[in-house]
Amino acid sequence: MAAVAVGAASVAAGWAWGALLIAYFVLSIALSRLRSEEKRAKTGSVVEKGGARDAIQVAANGGVFALVALVAAAFGPGMPLGRTLTAAALGALAASAADTWATEIGSLASRPPRSILTWRPVPAGTSGGVNLIGMLAMVAGATFVAAGGRALAIDAPVVAVILGGFAGAIADSVVGATLQDRRWCDTCQTSTERAVHGCGTVTRHAGGITAVDNDLVNLIATLAGATVAALLVHSALFS
Ligand SMILES: [Zn+2]
Repeated sequence: MAAVAVGAASVAAGWAWGALLIAYFVLSIALSRLRSEEKRAKTGSVVEKGGARDAIQVAANGGVFALVALVAAAFGPGMPLGRTLTAAALGALAASAADTWATEIGSLASRPPRSILTWRPVPAGTSGGVNLIGMLAMVAGATFVAAGGRALAIDAPVVAVILGGFAGAIADSVVGATLQDRRWCDTCQTSTERAVHGCGTVTRHAGGITAVDNDLVNLIATLAGATVAALLVHSALFS
């Protein structure tokens, strides 16, 4: 349902928007299947995963994009505000792509990631954990959306969209490392994001804010991506 709503809103904004969303999804799914067993073995005890959750994840990742694209289409690309909103919509999707690519490619690294705040090594899959290959993947994911938008004749400055997407993915890491709910499994004596650990133990709150789950962090990241891209275009830094 969430995916259908996001898809329908994008297509209503214009076929180019719908096509870009589909390209984003197809690549995200392909990347998540890339050496997936290996990634699950590394991050499975830390990361929350599940069928029903994926729908909420879709809305959290694509909701801002679809809504802003609809409003941008209503304004029309010829008007200055329409152009700013177009960049905002692309910035939101670029943030999602940047974060997804960083997660899927960065978690293949053999060495553990480092906390974006303290730069100390953290277990693979930990929110706020980054590495160089993941950060390069952020830029690549944001560039994919910016270039895809340009190829589909969606009128927005490419550099503003890339910077917005990168900023959104960094915001995702910072909020993930600070505000996001952190949990603890008493049985395994290990930190996790899962409400019920792989061992079956119900985990307990160990830091961050309980209400701030991964979906809310993704939503904040797409809002940050949209805002940065819009400000860069609005301030005429990139046109
Ligand atoms: Zn456990």
